[in-house]
Amino acid sequence: MDDKLFLMIPGPTPMPERALLAMAKAPIGHRSGEFAKIMAEVSENLKWLHQTASEVLILSSSGTGALEAAIINACSPGDRVLVGANGKFGERWVEVAQAFGLDVEVIAAPYGQPLSTDAFKAALEADTDKTIKAVVVTHSETSTGVINDLETIVGYIRAHGEALSIVDAVTSLGATSVPVDAWGLDFVGSGSQKAYMIPPGLGFLAVSERGWAACERSTMPRYYFDLRKYRKALKKNNTPFTTPVNLVFALQTTLQMLRAEGLDALFARHARLRNATRAAVRALGLALFNPDDHSASPAITAVVPPEGIACDKLRATLKKHYDIVIAGGQGEMEGQIVRIGHLGFVGERDVLTAIAALEGALHTLGYDGFTPGSGVAAASAVLFG
Ligand SMILES: *Cc1c(COP(=O)(O)O)cnc(C)c1O
Repeated sequence: MDDKLFLMIPGPTPMPERALLAMAKAPIGHRSGEFAKIMAEVSENLKWLHQTASEVLILSSSGTGALEAAIINACSPGDRVLVGANGKFGERWVEVAQAFGLDVEVIAAPYGQPLSTDAFKAALEADTDKTIKAVVVTHSETSTGVINDLETIVGYIRAHGEALSIVDAVTSLGATSVPVDAWGLDFVGSGSQKAYMIPPGLGFLAVSERGWAACERSTMPRYYFDLRKYRKALKKNNTPFTTPVNLVFALQTTLQMLRAEGLDALFARHARLRNATRAAVRALGLALFNPDDHSASPAITAVVPPEGIACDKLRATLKKHYDIVIAGGQGEMEGQIVRIGHLGFVGERDVLTAIAALEGALHTLGYDGFTPGSGVAAASAVLFG
């Protein structure tokens, strides 16, 4: 059916009508007083979402740009950095750090499993000469549906004393608590097309005072992503370069919506949707790619389809018959898993519908290892139980 498509991929995520309408306006000047007023409100609300008193910068980039900006402002060429990698995004930060000439040490874990906090502890405690300058951690690893134990890892980084934390919070921020100040996080990057409920195009970066000191020390060549320019402009509720003003109109609206919902309710909603999705997947006799509930991402659930059911067929059937788009596997996970996003403007109705549609699609493709309705019943038991 036309105009019926519902995105249950981990970004872009669905958009509220109010935010769509907010965008459907003629652009205003990005140096105008009118725009500065909007930026002032947006900045306050970004601080609220990040649970920080520091500035949250707005970059015209996707989430990768925000993380690249963090890496090149925190570090200088040749710096030793630890990078956690248990999926495609962790691996991306390894590549970015290497591209900028950093001395990268990878702390890896198998796909579908969380990073070992002990591995970070051991590497940081062994570094008595304090040569490790930064540690990059992906909080919610979207490619596998795993949330890493950031709080514990950051505790070890703080205990080290020298190393800065650089956090990919792209699918954790706004889905679960990322208390930037309370945990002492230095660089926290995210992107507009995830929990922010607006289209792709903006990157966000929270920077601590320690982080700003590192920006000053860094000898890395930078221009567009020299964060000092953004901080200076933000003091005047502005950005150094032309901002996609219509995206900021939408952001103003969605941040108001998030604020009205409240942090606790926001995080509880994502946890509930995740738990319902996982219960349904189990009830249908399918395997969760990350079977461990403690490290299950609040944003996305990765599912291993039953024997004989191809991932691309399952996704195509869901799209064709039910107008629901779910994601496939990335990189080496292609054809191995499908991923159901429950991030952003997603509610109980959407998850129940997706599970019912999943049952229908599995049935259409010839899998009958479940009693019809059992997935919906399991999800309902979580949501209403
Ligand atoms: C979406 C995502 C990103 C950013 O990807 P972009 O396409 O650059 O916005 C980074 N990390 C994670 C974990 C993500 O899910």
